[in-house]
Amino acid sequence: MDDVIIIGGGPAGLFASFYSGLRGMRVRIIDIQDKLGGKMHVYPEKIIWDIGGLAPKPCFEVIQDTVKQGLHFEPEVNLEERVIDIRKIAEQHFEVETDKGNIFSGKSVIIAIGGGIINPKQLDIKDAERYKLTNLHYVVQSLKKFKDKHVLISGAGNSALDWANDLSGYAKSVTLIYRKADIKGYEVMKEKLEELNVKKLPNTHIHQLVGDETQTKIEQVVLENIETGAHTVQSFDDVIISHGFDRENTLLEQSSAKVDMFNEYSIKGFGNTATSIDGLYACGDIIYHEAKAHLIASAFSDAANAANLAKRYIEPKAKPEGYVSSHNDIFKESNKVVMKKYL
Ligand SMILES: Cc1cc2nc3c(=O)[nH]c(=O)nc-3n(C[C@H](O)[C@H](O)[C@H](O)COP(=O)(O)OP(=O)(O)OC[C@H]3O[C@@H](n4cnc5c(N)ncnc54)[C@H](O)[C@@H]3O)c2cc1C
Repeated sequence: MDDVIIIGGGPAGLFASFYSGLRGMRVRIIDIQDKLGGKMHVYPEKIIWDIGGLAPKPCFEVIQDTVKQGLHFEPEVNLEERVIDIRKIAEQHFEVETDKGNIFSGKSVIIAIGGGIINPKQLDIKDAERYKLTNLHYVVQSLKKFKDKHVLISGAGNSALDWANDLSGYAKSVTLIYRKADIKGYEVMKEKLEELNVKKLPNTHIHQLVGDETQTKIEQVVLENIETGAHTVQSFDDVIISHGFDRENTLLEQSSAKVDMFNEYSIKGFGNTATSIDGLYACGDIIYHEAKAHLIASAFSDAANAANLAKRYIEPKAKPEGYVSSHNDIFKESNKVVMKKYL
């Protein structure tokens, strides 16, 4: 039996894993995605400034460091498994069931599912799927890829505008298409776009993707003016689709263990990360408590709190808080490796 089963491998789940390890607990992380890091994978190329004590760095580096830290105490990790039920069988005995038919037993559970399962809205056009491996993108993983390229961005939300902004001056050309007559993005960005070399095509959507001779890469895009029905064919090196995200968060609704909710989207935190069920804690974006800020930094703080509560639930005589890392013998051997760099 695991000491703690953590559902969700975003920043909250990963730090909960690390901190549970620091507190000597055996951990299992379960995430439906094929990689750890959670929502941070939505904006890997953006520069992160607001994690206390961390110099600004691209999010993909934050992902790397957070994952490394989360795996430090070698938790069990189950990826591409969606949790479909949480059951409290008895005190210190939970069952967590996944869509693969696995039933994991744990003494405690930490829910770190953020806003639920999020996936970019897919382009509903024939053959779109096959170009995903080449030049049809739903997330900008790295700006480098688009250097000196002709790029088409479809969408007018904040992410689409952000990418248009970031790529203009870097890509050879940026064309932004959107279905409405106006851009609905935030005002500052709209004004900025006016100054940038971004070609804007309102009332336009993608009608067809035309592949190269191998049919593995988009060569041209047939654009349709929604008002007039007129088609134009244009060549692009890369196509970025930014139509928002599909969110799915049925776990809490369907789960046998019924936690009190703060609202439709958030678990109610009692004090901090304690929920209405003993032994079941929640951290990160999924919990609401009075000290809540929807930040990575706050997810870390929640996670340590949840791990401390789980520890005390399993071992009531354990100290309420973990021992600080600077003086914690658990890092004695690992410190030798870290220190090598400085000697
Ligand atoms: C575009 C954007 C930019 C942002 N920029 C910043 C920033 O600059 N600074 C900052 O501090 N914050 C930023 N944030 C917010 C930050 O990303 C979140 O606060 C943080 O990711 C929350 O972490 P989490 O671990 O709670 O949830 P998430 O990161 O959402 O991770 C939850 C994980 O749970 C998994 N999951 C969900 N349901 C299930 C299930 N049933 N079974 C299995 N797995 C499941 C998901 O797959 C996911 O991996 C930004 C958010 C967005 C969208």
